[in-house]
Amino acid sequence: MKNIQPKIEIEPYWEKDLQMRYPKDIDKPVAEFRNYDEPARDTVKSFYELNHTNQTYDFVLKKEEEFLSLDRKKMSLWEAVDYLNTLVDDSDPDIDLDQTQHLLQTAEALRAHGHPEWLILTGFLHDLGKILCLFGEPQWAVVGDTFPVGCKFSDKIVYSEYFKKNPDYEDNRYNSYYGVYYKNCGLRNIHMSWGHDEYLYHIMKSYLPGPALYIIRYHSFYAQHRENGYDHLMDEHDHKMFKWVKAFNPYDLYTKWQTLPDVKKLKPYYEDLIARFLPDELSF
Ligand code: FE
Ligand code: FE
Repeated sequence: MKNIQPKIEIEPYWEKDLQMRYPKDIDKPVAEFRNYDEPARDTVKSFYELNHTNQTYDFVLKKEEEFLSLDRKKMSLWEAVDYLNTLVDDSDPDIDLDQTQHLLQTAEALRAHGHPEWLILTGFLHDLGKILCLFGEPQWAVVGDTFPVGCKFSDKIVYSEYFKKNPDYEDNRYNSYYGVYYKNCGLRNIHMSWGHDEYLYHIMKSYLPGPALYIIRYHSFYAQHRENGYDHLMDEHDHKMFKWVKAFNPYDLYTKWQTLPDVKKLKPYYEDLIARFLPDELSF
């Protein structure tokens, strides 16, 4: 247990659920990720029940208006990392992993495989949007799989049966195949369910290269990058860019078992990397 104040817990169950839904062997046998007991499954279910019930088209527009003016807080990237780290996973049976360590592990694995600097930096900051939790947002509006709103919910989305409770499910404006969109309109023209991906994309959009922004914006869109549930909304650009999301995903999902990174030792490297891409102060 850690002594970081103020402490807000972010439950790791939805990320562990991802590992179970999409097992992929990198080095650790998948079975070792499968330490689920039934109460954990129930937590995941009730999480997605809340998420799928409440992520309506109107809700998303409201949250975009509320947060995308980015006028809450100004911080350097490293300050943001420290701030995010006040979110502590206390219930992760795999590893006692805090948010900084997850970010560093993702980035260090990319670095070890010789990936370009912009991709290492993407790994290092990809979850910073979870800062939304510290602004008082409930977890179902911060983490979990994301999906388009304003059109029919795909049955490829996890626990899609819970969308029956979503008011948009019965709303003719939003429940057709294309809904408020049109065929192959491109993901940049659609609204995704609200969460840490979309929020961080807007914070970073003036600073990072296209593929980095694309990874940040769609890294939780599993209904597409693992299930191809939304080809009908994607354009050629999306198909090209999704290769990056797919390449990034194993580094996000399957690096949690590794040796804990030495934050102090790594900090100079990352501070230098940050300085080469980002301004001293970012708007959150
Ligand atoms: Fe994430
Ligand atoms: Fe992550």
